[in-house]
Formats: sequence, C-alpha cells, structure tokens
Amino acid sequence: MTKRNNKFIEVAFFLSKYGKAGPPKLLQTDSWKDAYRMFYEQLSDGRDILTFEHSLKNSRDTFDSHFVDTEREGWKDEEGNPQKLKGISSEVFTKFNRLNEEQIWERIKQYANTDVKEREEVFENLIAEQEAEKPDTTARTEGGTKVYISRKVERNPTLRNAALKIHGYDCKVCGFNFEKVYGVWGKHWAEVHHLKPISESKVEKKLTDPGKDLVVVCANCHRMIHRRRGTALTIEELQAKLILK
Ligand SMILES: [Zn+2]
Ligand SMILES: [Zn+2]
Repeated sequence: MTKRNNKFIEVAFFLSKYGKAGPPKLLQTDSWKDAYRMFYEQLSDGRDILTFEHSLKNSRDTFDSHFVDTEREGWKDEEGNPQKLKGISSEVFTKFNRLNEEQIWERIKQYANTDVKEREEVFENLIAEQEAEKPDTTARTEGGTKVYISRKVERNPTLRNAALKIHGYDCKVCGFNFEKVYGVWGKHWAEVHHLKPISESKVEKKLTDPGKDLVVVCANCHRMIHRRRGTALTIEELQAKLILK
C-alpha cells in the first residue's frame, strides 16, 4: 500500500504537470478548488477543507518550476533554477515523469471522488459541519439588512444556563427532549440558540436577554438553523421545512 502522504504528492505532481490555466482535462472540472476537493475524502488526513486545499496547491506549486510549459512559474531558488525536490517529492517526480497523463490518472483516480453530484453534497455537509465548529458570528438578511447572530453568546455558560432555566429543555423547533429519548443520560441537555439580531460590535452578555433573545433547540435543529455559511434560519423558517412533526 502506498502511504497517504505519497498519494497526496502524486496528485500534486499530476496537477502541476497536466494542469495549465485550469486543472488537468481528465479531471473534467474547470475549477481548481473542485479539483483539490476531489481528493479530500481520501487524502485529507484529518485536515479541514481550507487547509487541505492550501497544502495541495502548495505541493502542486513545488513541481511547477520543473515543467517548462506550465503557466505557473513555480518555486525557484536564488539563481532562478527550479527548486530542488526532496524526499517523497523527488521520488514521485522520478517515477511519474516516465508515465503519461493517462497512466498517472489511472493510478490517482483511485483516490478521487469523480462523481460531481456526490462531491457537491459531500462538501455542502462538510463545510456546514466545519463552520458549526467555529465560534463565529453568522449573518442573515432581514428586510434587506444584514443581521448578525452570535455563536459566541450561545456558548456563554451563564447565558446558556439562564436560558435553559427559563425555557426548559424542549426543542423550540421540533419539540425533541433529550431526557425523554435518552433517559437520565440526556437529562439537562440541550443547545441554546441566539435569536436577536445584534450588531457585530455589541456581542456582549449584558445586552442579551436570555428570556427574549435565546431559545432552546436540539442539536439537529441547531445544525439545520446554521447549515448554510453566512446565514441562519429563523425558528419559523426551519419549522416550515419540517416534514416529521
Ligand atoms: Zn429540534
Ligand atoms: Zn444558533
């Protein structure tokens, strides 16, 4: 078995040698981003999407100066010569430079997700997941103006506890109750969602009224509220989407 890191470098070689203004034709995409993502599922090695895209692009660029017909200049040393390849990169370069485009693709397509539709779905979910992990502020548009929903406030333990005390533990969207489903293990468990549009600069706890500004939701509904990057659904909007009521 070839190591994951080797596979990653093999892909980088392919992207560098056969990608010109856009990615290699055999990948059937015009977007570099999409080309990188094609390999994310198998080669991510725990990296998040942006980091992965970045390092694949960088690895591609280390090969660029070794191919004269590429449109990217690549990394050169002080004398303007192609940067010397080391370790795995050097091994892959020697081995793969003897193969043609089809032969290399035959090999690396095993690490690729070549199904466009599936890829789109995978990434929509992955990005939503990774976004949800970030303690940031998300926005939604209300009557033409952009409003901000603070995820930071949702993580404030004092506000959280105050909200749970006031609202109880039933999900405001779907009614789910962790204790009813998981018994004692689920007791006193729920997430808190911040409703009140606040300006970015006013993410302060004294401005938040846990009775009016916060609601209790289950983990699933909370994810669905914040599913799309940069937006948040209202409770009513998500309720309107519910199929199982
Ligand atoms: Zn729910
Ligand atoms: Zn929320």
